[in-house]
Amino acid sequence: MPFRDTIGHRQLVRLLSRSIAAGSLPPSLIFSGPEGVGKKRTALALAQALNCGRSVASGRWPVVGGQGSVVRGQEPGEAGDELPIDACGECPACRRIARNAYPDVFLVQPEDSASIKIEQIRDVIAQTAYRPFEGRRRVVIIDEADAMGADAQDALLKSLEEPPPHSVFVLVSARADVLAPTVRSRCPSLRFGRLNPAEIARALARDHGYTEEESRLAAALAGGSLGRALEAAAGGLDDVRAAACRALRQVAEAADSRGRLEGARGLTGARGAGSTTAADREQLAARVTALLALVRDLAILSSRAHGGAVAHLDLTSELEGLSRLYDRDRIVRAFTAADRALRALGRNASPKIVADWLALQL
Ligand SMILES: [Zn+2]
Repeated sequence: MPFRDTIGHRQLVRLLSRSIAAGSLPPSLIFSGPEGVGKKRTALALAQALNCGRSVASGRWPVVGGQGSVVRGQEPGEAGDELPIDACGECPACRRIARNAYPDVFLVQPEDSASIKIEQIRDVIAQTAYRPFEGRRRVVIIDEADAMGADAQDALLKSLEEPPPHSVFVLVSARADVLAPTVRSRCPSLRFGRLNPAEIARALARDHGYTEEESRLAAALAGGSLGRALEAAAGGLDDVRAAACRALRQVAEAADSRGRLEGARGLTGARGAGSTTAADREQLAARVTALLALVRDLAILSSRAHGGAVAHLDLTSELEGLSRLYDRDRIVRAFTAADRALRALGRNASPKIVADWLALQL
């Protein structure tokens, strides 16, 4: 996938393209930033741009779709948007790089032990001693580079310090801060940010065959990570939404605060009480995010705004039922409370306490 097809990170991608064109690409780089935002993918795009058989001279960001499509929110095209160098994405070199079957691009990843062993690093360093077989530049991508132990990082140090000619090292990591300072000091770091929901929705619709509606919802649940959006979808978006819908109804229909707290249990799941693992917190965050999206729809329904803006078209009848229980004041309260609940979860608050608090606020 060439530079022009990457989702988000335009400034970084432009910077990479320009430094290849100017011949100023550093021989060792760290791509840091959250999981699932496209760091490895961008490293592969870099490898393609360096080795594309067609030597494509320039690229251009695609023109994004019109009003009402999931690509709304995409950065608008602007002058200087061109990429001075980009891969074609179609020649044999580009295709083989994408399949990880190109002799001059090495992808090093943790093996079964979940760590990157010193032997893997020694192997790849031995390969870089020779000139590239077919390509112009040899690219070594070390994915999850923080999985290298101290010995593996030591073994790599010399290559980062005096990189073999024709070679580029890219260390990809969501936890770059745990890499040895000696490694970090030798590699300029490019920091990848989170993707915005529109960017995630666009990727889901374009690359994963999601409908516009599914894309929008999964993107809302994703916390800026395409990887998490895909996980959320695989883990059953419908279940998450159904749980949120049930909780909204149960809490609103409850006769007293005891009934409300029952409703809170629907948000935390069976293991709820006293459970504080990260997985439980994630699960609750997903449900509260879905709840927030439903409340947003309720607000749209209550103001009789255009129906097309409702995210959950398939839940229209449930939403209409809920809208009889949620008047404007209550919607505003629910919105604020769900937002605060998500923030608290982001600060590692106990899922049980947050869910109970939220149920009493709704
Ligand atoms: Zn190509």
